[in-house]
Amino acid sequence: MIITKVKNVDTEYSCKWISCKENFHSTGQQDAHIISHVVQEKCCRWGDCTKVLSFNSLEIHALKHLYDNQNIFRTFED
Ligand SMILES: [Zn+2]
Ligand SMILES: [Zn+2]
Repeated sequence: MIITKVKNVDTEYSCKWISCKENFHSTGQQDAHIISHVVQEKCCRWGDCTKVLSFNSLEIHALKHLYDNQNIFRTFED
Protein backbone atom coordinates (compact mmCIF):
# COMPACT_ATOMS: atom_id res chain seq x y z
CA MET A 1 0.00 0.00 0.00
CA ILE A 2 1.44 3.32 -1.09
CA ILE A 3 0.23 6.57 0.36
CA THR A 4 1.24 9.65 -1.54
CA LYS A 5 0.99 12.81 0.45
CA VAL A 6 1.89 16.24 -0.81
CA LYS A 7 4.26 17.68 1.71
CA ASN A 8 3.44 21.02 3.29
CA VAL A 9 0.36 21.48 1.15
CA ASP A 10 -1.05 23.89 3.69
CA THR A 11 1.90 26.22 3.42
CA GLU A 12 1.69 26.65 -0.34
CA TYR A 13 -0.23 29.59 -1.68
CA SER A 14 -1.19 30.47 -5.19
CA CYS A 15 -2.31 33.78 -6.59
CA LYS A 16 -5.87 33.71 -7.89
CA TRP A 17 -5.63 37.07 -9.59
CA ILE A 18 -6.99 36.82 -13.10
CA SER A 19 -4.37 35.52 -15.56
CA CYS A 20 -1.75 35.26 -12.79
CA LYS A 21 -0.39 31.89 -11.72
CA GLU A 22 2.26 32.82 -9.19
CA ASN A 23 2.94 30.39 -6.38
CA PHE A 24 4.32 31.23 -2.98
CA HIS A 25 5.71 29.50 0.02
CA SER A 26 4.81 32.12 2.56
CA THR A 27 1.92 34.49 3.06
CA GLY A 28 4.36 37.37 3.44
CA GLN A 29 5.48 36.95 -0.16
CA GLN A 30 1.92 36.80 -1.34
CA ASP A 31 0.90 39.89 0.61
CA ALA A 32 3.50 41.93 -1.24
CA HIS A 33 2.56 40.32 -4.53
CA ILE A 34 -1.16 40.98 -4.36
CA ILE A 35 -0.55 44.57 -3.32
CA SER A 36 1.50 45.02 -6.48
CA HIS A 37 -1.56 43.87 -8.47
CA VAL A 38 -3.77 46.35 -6.65
CA VAL A 39 -1.33 49.20 -7.30
CA GLN A 40 -1.29 48.48 -11.03
CA GLU A 41 -4.94 47.73 -11.69
CA LYS A 42 -6.75 49.83 -9.06
CA CYS A 43 -9.47 47.21 -8.81
CA CYS A 44 -9.77 43.66 -7.52
CA ARG A 45 -9.46 40.79 -9.99
CA TRP A 46 -9.15 38.01 -7.45
CA GLY A 47 -10.99 35.00 -8.84
CA ASP A 48 -14.32 36.30 -10.09
CA CYS A 49 -14.20 39.40 -7.90
CA THR A 50 -14.39 42.76 -9.68
CA LYS A 51 -14.49 45.13 -6.74
CA VAL A 52 -13.48 48.74 -7.28
CA LEU A 53 -12.52 50.68 -4.15
CA SER A 54 -10.22 53.45 -3.07
CA PHE A 55 -6.65 52.27 -2.81
CA ASN A 56 -6.46 51.85 0.97
CA SER A 57 -9.73 49.95 1.08
CA LEU A 58 -8.75 47.87 -1.90
CA GLU A 59 -5.47 46.89 -0.31
CA ILE A 60 -7.30 45.57 2.75
CA HIS A 61 -9.97 44.00 0.58
CA ALA A 62 -7.45 42.12 -1.57
CA LEU A 63 -5.56 40.87 1.46
CA LYS A 64 -8.80 39.57 2.89
CA HIS A 65 -9.06 37.18 -0.03
CA LEU A 66 -5.86 35.59 1.27
CA TYR A 67 -7.21 35.24 4.76
CA ASP A 68 -10.80 34.25 4.15
CA ASN A 69 -10.88 32.08 7.24
CA GLN A 70 -9.41 34.64 9.56
CA ASN A 71 -10.74 37.84 11.00
CA ILE A 72 -7.52 39.75 11.29
CA PHE A 73 -8.75 42.60 9.10
CA ARG A 74 -12.20 42.82 10.59
CA THR A 75 -11.54 46.02 12.49
CA PHE A 76 -10.67 47.81 9.24
CA GLU A 77 -14.02 47.06 7.70
CA ASP A 78 -16.34 48.12 10.51
ZN1 LIG B 1 -0.56 37.39 -8.86
ZN1 LIG C 1 -11.91 41.13 -4.31
